[in-house]
Amino acid sequence: MRRALYWFRNDLRINDNEGFAKAVNENDEVLPIFILDDQWFSKDQFGIEKMGAMRLKFLLESLADLKDQLQKIGSDLRILKGDSVGVLIKTYREFDCACLYAQKASSFNETQEEIKLSEQLTTDFIWGETLFHLDDLPMEIEELPDVFTQFRNPVEKKSKVRPLIESPESAKTPEGFGSSLPTLEELGLETPKKDPRSPMPFEGGANAAHERLQYYLWDKELLTNYKNTRNGLLGSDFSSHFSPWLANGSISAKEIYWQIVKYEKYVVKNSSTYWLIFELLWRDYFHFVALKNGKKIFLRTGITGEDKIEWKSDKHFGLWANGKTKESFIDANMHELNATGFMSNRGRQIVASYLIHQMNIDWRMGAAYFEKMLIDYDPCSNYGNWAYIAGVGTDPRGGREFNIARQKETYDPKGEYQAYWN
Ligand SMILES: Cc1cc2nc3c(=O)[nH]c(=O)nc-3n(C[C@H](O)[C@H](O)[C@H](O)COP(=O)(O)OP(=O)(O)OC[C@H]3O[C@@H](n4cnc5c(N)ncnc54)[C@H](O)[C@@H]3O)c2cc1C
Repeated sequence: MRRALYWFRNDLRINDNEGFAKAVNENDEVLPIFILDDQWFSKDQFGIEKMGAMRLKFLLESLADLKDQLQKIGSDLRILKGDSVGVLIKTYREFDCACLYAQKASSFNETQEEIKLSEQLTTDFIWGETLFHLDDLPMEIEELPDVFTQFRNPVEKKSKVRPLIESPESAKTPEGFGSSLPTLEELGLETPKKDPRSPMPFEGGANAAHERLQYYLWDKELLTNYKNTRNGLLGSDFSSHFSPWLANGSISAKEIYWQIVKYEKYVVKNSSTYWLIFELLWRDYFHFVALKNGKKIFLRTGITGEDKIEWKSDKHFGLWANGKTKESFIDANMHELNATGFMSNRGRQIVASYLIHQMNIDWRMGAAYFEKMLIDYDPCSNYGNWAYIAGVGTDPRGGREFNIARQKETYDPKGEYQAYWN
């Protein structure tokens, strides 16, 4: 009898999950495990907690949903807290496993974990984070261009999105392997109160992800006009809001892509349907940039190695983080983030530009605060976008400084968004 450990990471689904399907197919028994890593409950170099209560709540909901999906196919999920590498080695040995399977990661700490595990165990790390498979890129990862368009053009011409992987119909797991879900309080955080102003009731898990997909594409056909609405700020219909589910893998980029293809066949194919795929490509790009550049994406000098901005003291950082800068557009966006764990893409660009170029505060503090607060936190997209605006990432123009007055005029001309959140 062959038994394997399956480590769920940012792939909290059983549909279109190549690694999980492989583990089930190649083994008689599979032991699904998720680890709430001790690191996530620590503070970073700036003294900012790494995981805030809203993201943890979303994660626990996602795990509850995953556990439910697994139980439906005869399996279960064990959830433990600890040092991921240590817990995995111990569990692997305790259950006499033949192999540890998991989705391969692209960001630095996670790839380091893979190296450590592979030194001690038989491992199989399977790619699955992105729309385009790593092996299908028309370039080696070392040759990945530092400019998005130079990546996008050849990918669009030469690469194809792979078909979906079906969920296993059944999976055998030893009786009693599953464990209960901890509460936020048991993990040392307080359950956040739901803010009545929140425009979108984000709930974790594949089920909620597919409900949102159904709503955005099929019930409301909002995709038809996405390119014109995507810079919106108020409400929840202006953009897909898929990011929290994509970030922890409750839904895959491929699942969204193949629904867009269907939409193009049955509803309409236009610049908006293309644009959502284009944005998913940005997500891919930041994941590949992280894979190529390792630790560098987390350094102040980023992938350029330059430190062009004269950084000032961070003593006013709290004003920015708490939405007390007295610049009402900045404050409104930060209030939304603090109340809901979400902020529009337009808002993120503006508050990031303000912190970097107006307040001259180290961009990594802003990125760290987003890491704590965003329910869609993704190391690659977060640090990639922050570095881009700071001019140490992949922006061919060397950074973005937004004129706040002009942004207000263009995106909130009547001040409705500011009135709503201030
Ligand atoms: C400073 C800053 C920090 C950010 N941090 C994160 C983060 O931690 N996690 C995260 O998922 N996104 C991040 N983004 C990217 C983007 O703001 C969000 O993905 C987007 O706002 C999510 O809303 P949506 O799902 O409605 O996006 P849509 O406009 O509907 O786009 C669809 C999907 O495409 C992807 N996408 C869109 N824009 C980008 C982008 N600029 N970069 C990478 N992927 C993109 C996302 O997965 C998104 O869900 C950040 C952007 C900035 C400027």
